[in-house]
Amino acid sequence: MRRWLISLILVLILSACQSGTPNVKEIDIYNSSADMIGTAKLSEQEGGVQVKLEVNGLSPGFHGVHIHEFGKCEGPDFKSSGNHFNPDGKEHGLMHPEGSHIGDLPNIEADSSGYAEAELMADEATFTDGKNSLLKEDGTSLVITADKDDGVNQPGGKSGERVACGIIKKDAKAKEGEEPTDPAELEEEEKEEE
Ligand SMILES: [Zn+2]
Repeated sequence: MRRWLISLILVLILSACQSGTPNVKEIDIYNSSADMIGTAKLSEQEGGVQVKLEVNGLSPGFHGVHIHEFGKCEGPDFKSSGNHFNPDGKEHGLMHPEGSHIGDLPNIEADSSGYAEAELMADEATFTDGKNSLLKEDGTSLVITADKDDGVNQPGGKSGERVACGIIKKDAKAKEGEEPTDPAELEEEEKEEE
């Protein structure tokens, strides 16, 4: 609960600092039993979207992390998230010569208690309109797998089952995005009401 509050406060502070552009997005990550096990803070930067991940409850060792094409996290298998986000039709794998998917991220390592913390980069991903947008109509999702991604094998680098999932969406958090971003628009609306 406290964690949720902190997240909310963080989001509010961050939203206040932004001039209406949604270039920071905080998402919650759930395991296959629908327990919230972590968060990810996504921020749009030059050349891609940075993903700051903090997760508990993983098995110790390496795990694959990928952004998937649909903003749907239906447990327990999270197949609803679809394939890796791949708007350019490339091959899977950060080490594949004809790769990689925009959704392919480096592996993370959980410590002996199952905790993992990492800063990853989704190169070429954006939050703005266009084919590379993680915030497209129905959004995308961040998925953690049971095993590590070997970076070359199709279609998912032998990374095993999907063990955790978080939805990346424009309106993933309540109230965020409801505020009018353009003061001119607001004025117009007010005038219409008069
Ligand atoms: Zn991939």
